Formats: sequence, C-alpha cells, structure tokens
Amino acid sequence: MDNNQIWQGVLGELELSLSKANFTTWFKETNVLLGKGGEYIISVPNGFTKEWLQNKYHKYIAQAIQNVTSSRVTKITYEINTRKSSLSAISADDSLREGVARPVEMSSTNENQALSDPKTGLNPKYTFDNFIIGSNNELAKAAAMAICKNPGRVYNPFFIYGGVGLGKTHLVQAIGNEILKLNKKMGAVYATSEKFTDDFINFIRNKSREGDLSKFKDTYRGCDVLIVDDIQFLASKGRTQEAFFHAYNSLFQNNKQIILTSDKPPKAISGLEERLVSRFEGGMVADISLPDPETRKAILLAKCKERSYSVSDEILNYISQNIQSNVRELEGVLSKIVAHGELNNSEPTIEECKAILPDATSGPSRQTMSSKKIIEEVASFYDIDPSDILAKNRRKDIAWPRQIAMYLMRKELSKSYPAIGDDTGGRDHTTAIHAYEKVRKELEVNKSLKQEIEAVKQKLYVE
Ligand code: ADP
Ligand code: MG
Repeated sequence: MDNNQIWQGVLGELELSLSKANFTTWFKETNVLLGKGGEYIISVPNGFTKEWLQNKYHKYIAQAIQNVTSSRVTKITYEINTRKSSLSAISADDSLREGVARPVEMSSTNENQALSDPKTGLNPKYTFDNFIIGSNNELAKAAAMAICKNPGRVYNPFFIYGGVGLGKTHLVQAIGNEILKLNKKMGAVYATSEKFTDDFINFIRNKSREGDLSKFKDTYRGCDVLIVDDIQFLASKGRTQEAFFHAYNSLFQNNKQIILTSDKPPKAISGLEERLVSRFEGGMVADISLPDPETRKAILLAKCKERSYSVSDEILNYISQNIQSNVRELEGVLSKIVAHGELNNSEPTIEECKAILPDATSGPSRQTMSSKKIIEEVASFYDIDPSDILAKNRRKDIAWPRQIAMYLMRKELSKSYPAIGDDTGGRDHTTAIHAYEKVRKELEVNKSLKQEIEAVKQKLYVE
C-alpha cells in the first residue's frame, strides 16, 4: 500500500465513526505526507484543523492507521500545508527542508492516547489497578482475578453483562493484559463482536485464498484466551454465530479461556441460538450494575489521581451525587469541570458546576424517571407492546411484565400503590400491592428474575 492508499483507508474508517459534519470539516483537505516505520506526517490545511486533529482526533487517527496497516503507529505529526495541491507527490523530506511547518510531536506518555495493540486488540491502559471495586462489580472482579491465576480452568466461559459505560470492556481488557503479563507464553485476542464479524466476512470473501483461512483460524481458534466484547451484536447474524460456535467449541475443548460481555444475560439476548445460550450459562455469569454513590466517588478520586487533577472534595461529592447514569458519563463530567477550571484559572463553584453540566444532570435520574419510562423499558425487555401493560389483558406473558413494572414503580419511584394503579391503566391499589409482593417474593428465590430486573434498571438509568 502506498501512503495515498493508506490514507484513503484511514478516511474510510474515520468516516464511519464520525458524524458527516465533523468528518467533512476536519478531514476534507488532509493527506498523508510520509508514512514510514510507524511514523506518519499528516498534512492539514490550517492551524485550526491541526489543533483539532491533535487534540480531538489523534487517537482515532492513530487507531485507524493501525487498523488499515495492521502495524503499530509510533508517532504522528501534523503539518500545515501552505501549498494547496499535489501534496501527496511531495516527499516529506522536501517539505521538511523547506520548513513548511514545524511538526508537533504528540505526547506518547499521555495515558489517554494509549492505543490497543494491533495483534491482540488489548489496550494497556485498562488494568486491574485502575479498576475500582464496589458492590456493583465485586463478583465480576473477583472472578476475573481468579481467571487470571488459572486461565481456562476455573470459570469457563466467563460471561459479564451490564449496561453501557459500566466497565465491562475495562474489566475484560484488564484480564487479557494481566494474563499476558503473568504468562509470557500465552496468546490472547480481544475483539469486539463487530470485529469478529468483519474478520469472518473477510474470511468468507477470500475463502479461495488459503492464507486468509488459516489467518482467521489462527487468530480465533489458536489463542489461549479469546475475549469477545458486546456479544449481543452477534445475535442476529446467523453465519457469524455459526463461525463463533465452532471457534468456541474448539477453544473450549482445549481448555482455552473464553471471556464474553453483553448488555444482557445470555437468556435475554433475543436471536441468540439456544446452543450458545446454554453454553454461556454453563460457565460463570456475573453482572456489573450501576455503582452506588460511594463507589462513584472512589472512581472519581482514582481518575483524579491518574490524571493529576486536583478537584475539591465538595465538587467530587457534587458530581458523585448527581451523575448516576454510568462511569463513562462520570469521567466526562469530571474532565469538563477540570477543563473549565483550567480555562478560568480557578476551580468552578458548585453553582458553576451546575451550569457546566446541564445535559449530564438532565438525563434520567431518580427524580425525572417516570412510570411511562418504566413501562416502556419493561415492555421492550419482554418484547411486548407498552399498550398491553395498560390494557385489560390477563395473559400471563403480559400480566407478569405488568407486575414487574408495578414493582419497579414502587421500588424506583417510591410511588404510592393507588398512584401505581393509576399509572398502569387505572387498576385498583390492591392489584399494585399484590404485584409488588409477588415480584418481591419471587426475587428471593429466582436468580434469573434478579438479572432481568437489573437489566431493565440499567436501561432505565443509562439511556
Ligand atoms: P462498558 O464496556 O461497560 O460500556 P467501559 O469499560 O468502556 O464500559 O467503561 C467506560 C469508562 O468507565 C472507561 O473509561 C472505564 O475505564 C471507566 N470505568 C468503568 N468502571 C470503572 C471502575 N470500576 N473503575 C475505574 N474506571 C471505570
Ligand atoms: Mg464496552
């Protein structure tokens, strides 16, 4: 591949992951001047673009180059192009000698810029050390640590599920990194289920070429640890599921460790073949749920330490009490506040924090959550129509989700029983009491109901 082809490939990747507006604004007039030995010089039309690419898109660009070239990127510099045309024809040496622009080196020590290894898919920034434990993830973390000591032998497969931004990717990546650290001879592969699907499709397309076949097999069947993230996306893909099934069996029979994540427990993934569901359930299934306020604070403290932020206790308390959705959001809010502080050279007051975070705090929280939202999420989880919950229908497949919705209204919104009756199609308050008690009792004995309700709750707070 010449540089131009590489850059076209990179643009193709970026176009997929950015909005059209952003893509055209920032990448329209870019090109690659030099790409050699992992070092790249990207030409940009002006200083503004240069700054944006450096600060906002550097990581994406680096990752895209790695994806396209399948080799490690060590350095990217951005140069302002003062001549408009035929850029790709100029050799980098010429342009440097003429002093077109002074390349700015990106700091490779900034932990935010850490990239995943193109071979293993693992990103060194995810470790156990920087993963904070709380009651929401302690089981998952304990199982993860046990697996690292004895891969393939204790919990196989290991299946983690939970809502968006709660640390699933972090934890499974940490397992991969730790296993490689402890066992120099082991091979680990991390892939999102999209990556797995892409690789599989490429393999099918190029089937005639022996090399591709063995590459796919080497990658996915020859490793000691296979991590597939967000497995729910495999659900509707029949042929890919089939490929996965075979890779799975061959690894499993050889005592290789398999680690999977999903947004729901195995049984609740609709479209997932029964044989896969039962295999997943045969191992260790652990959930990660929403962190409580203390855990949120501990996470914030850890992030501050990691990034050398100094933020007052008052503000950390404020954030941890007000951002309940997920850890990714928590991190985002923290960075916004720190950025605001740096810009103004003083830490924002609580009042200012409130103003900085309007979107973050206006998401669904315990205050803004409504009965309507509960009905929608319960209905969607159990694959029925929200109107069924309100209607007079007594069919069991409808009555049960309705009772769960009532239970959640009581539990999550602290609604009165008469109000719950009103919100579920004008039912009597005794019906609401009965529903609440029934679900509560069932929860004591039924582990999968607990998982289902937890999954619904995560949807309620996360989206
Ligand atoms: P998921 O894969 O569940 O959507 P991620 O693993 O991508 O979530 O986590 C989102 C962000 O939150 C990441 O930056 C991750 O490092 C951070 N994070 C999540 N949980 C924790 C935790 N317990 N301790 C420290 N950081 C966490
Ligand atoms: Mg993830």
